[in-house]
Amino acid sequence: MTDPTIFGKIIRREIPADIVYEDDELIAFRDIAPQAPVHVLFVPKTHVPTLNELQPDQAAVVGRLAHAAAAYAKREGFAEDGYRIVMNCNGDGGQTVFQIHLHLLAGAQLGRFGTPR
Ligand code: AMP
Repeated sequence: MTDPTIFGKIIRREIPADIVYEDDELIAFRDIAPQAPVHVLFVPKTHVPTLNELQPDQAAVVGRLAHAAAAYAKREGFAEDGYRIVMNCNGDGGQTVFQIHLHLLAGAQLGRFGTPR
């Protein structure tokens, strides 16, 4: 299924993004509203709106996102200092773009998370 979200438009080069990595399965680009000094989104090219729709035969997609994020952290030299990966799901999770994606946050000591608003 074609990804109708803004991330699909980035994958299809219909809108610009600061792309830092791409392969056959995924793309990674800088978040337009960074929440840390490093904030990169890892997005699969397979369209899955939320983690709730992820099928068993698609589970490896999430592993690929995590592996690509770790590889990026190593390449960029902050893997040992550390980083956080986050996936939001639906309203309470704060998901705003309905194509699954992994946030990679780094470059500073990050605060705790999960506090209700
Ligand atoms: P989420 O809230 O988990 O769905 O994350 C969506 C993220 O996409 C947010 O952090 C947005 O800042 C980011 N975002 C939205 N549009 C763009 C865009 N055109 N380029 C880069 N990042 C974007």
